[in-house]
Amino acid sequence: MSENGKEFNIMITTAENKLHARKTFCAQGHLHDSKLEALRCNELNLLAAAGRIKDLRIQEAYLLIPPMKYGGPTENERKCEYIADFVYFDNDLEKTVIEDSKGHRTPEYIIKRKLVKQLYCNEDTVFIESGRAGKKKTGRRKK
Ligand SMILES: [Zn+2]
Repeated sequence: MSENGKEFNIMITTAENKLHARKTFCAQGHLHDSKLEALRCNELNLLAAAGRIKDLRIQEAYLLIPPMKYGGPTENERKCEYIADFVYFDNDLEKTVIEDSKGHRTPEYIIKRKLVKQLYCNEDTVFIESGRAGKKKTGRRKK
């Protein structure tokens, strides 16, 4: 991308403003849902360049509940997916990491997190949360 190394902020007037998130470009030119997520993308790309991680992907979909077609039109349900902010292979851990960088934890997110852990996490794949809760390692900050 020609915008490499620069950071742009775009003011938005959607529901995301309520969560104090602002769409932000990372150095790679992706438009991320928040500045936190864009900064984490920059960090992960540096880790990839340094050989600490590999196969970095963003916005990867994990099927949680397949579509259901068992009756009339009102009884069918669409599929339910979790969209991971980042997925990569951690060369130190020797595991695939599914990473969520949200600073807020909505009830919908928490249910999806539990489902993705149950369906996809095992001895080779772990789920981690970066961002606000994962940033400080000296204990949880009270709201
Ligand atoms: Zn990015």
